[in-house]
Parts: sequence; structure tokens; C-alpha cells
Amino acid sequence: MDSGLRQALARYDLDSLGRSGDVVYVIDADLRLRFVNQRYEQVADAVTGGEVLETYPLGSCVVDGIDAVLRHHYTDLFEATLQTGEPRMADYHCHTPEEERTFRCMIYPLGTEGLLTVHGELESRPWPKADVEAVRDPDTGLVSMCAGCRRVRMDEGGWRHVPQFIDEAPRDTTHGLCDPCLGFYLGATARGAQR
Ligand SMILES: [Zn+2]
Repeated sequence: MDSGLRQALARYDLDSLGRSGDVVYVIDADLRLRFVNQRYEQVADAVTGGEVLETYPLGSCVVDGIDAVLRHHYTDLFEATLQTGEPRMADYHCHTPEEERTFRCMIYPLGTEGLLTVHGELESRPWPKADVEAVRDPDTGLVSMCAGCRRVRMDEGGWRHVPQFIDEAPRDTTHGLCDPCLGFYLGATARGAQR
């Protein structure tokens, strides 16, 4: 960690953040990981199913390895926090093969040197069991998966992440876009045209 970043971090208790039950990491102004705590490793290992620090060691860019859409989102969020110097809060979902989890993240600017991020778990719940037959369209026999976020359209309506289908899409899957992804990718024009 370079001295500017170290100095900017001096007002925080890194020992206590290191032991925290929250996920904590520090990135520099180039969004490169400079500090992670134990909980970060535990959670990231569970999500990636491997040794996260071997794949993305300290010094690697924190938004590498995430989906393009999210990469832009987080890059913008981090850069806006660095530019304004104001802390920000963001909620996001993150899942392991066993559970879906919601985190609330606080992002604290470290001057212009980098960012301290603290991610507390708001909620976690086991995945619902998914029966592929139950999510097939009764008319076409197809399973609809969102091309943006890979959630699956459920028979009772709405879209959900189903881990077993993310790992391997069921046979006879057709791709569409869920409402928020439609809005994000295509915007109001497409929504208007659909009506
Ligand atoms: Zn979607």
C-alpha cells in the first residue's frame, strides 16, 4: 500500500476492520485492491467457489471478473465517490450456490487516494427449489431466461435467479429480457413499443 493511501487510512482502525464480520476492502484510485479483511476472503471464496486471492490477488482491479454491466455500474459508482468526496451507500445482491444474499455497502472516500468499502449483510435466505418443469411455458415448452441478468421467468410470474440454471441453462431455453434489464438496455422507447 503506498504512503498516500496509508496516510488517508490512518483515521480508521484497520485492525478492527480486519476482524469485522462485515466484508471490508480498500481500493486505490485505479480501483486496485489494496486491503481485504478475512470476511472478504470467506464470502468471496464461497461466491467464486475457489481461492479468490489466488485468482484476484491484492493489486488486481476490483471490477475485473464481474459482468460487463455491473462493471460499468461499479466503476461509475466508485469514480463518482472519488470525485465528490462524499460517502455513498448501495445495496446489492450476491449469491452463493446455497443462498441468495443482500448486502448494504458503504463507500468512504479516502481523500483522492482511494476508497474504503464496508459491506454488511442485510439478508440471506436459501434458494427456492426449482423444478425445471414448473418454469416451462405450458404452451411452448420453453424456459425463458433473461439475457441480461440470467434470471428465469417463474410460473407464478416474476423473475428469479436459479443457481442451477445459471451454471447450466436448461434444455429448450429461450432468451428474453426481464423488466429492469429491458429498461436498462433498451430504455423507455422499447418499453413503449412493447405496449
Ligand atoms: Zn434481467
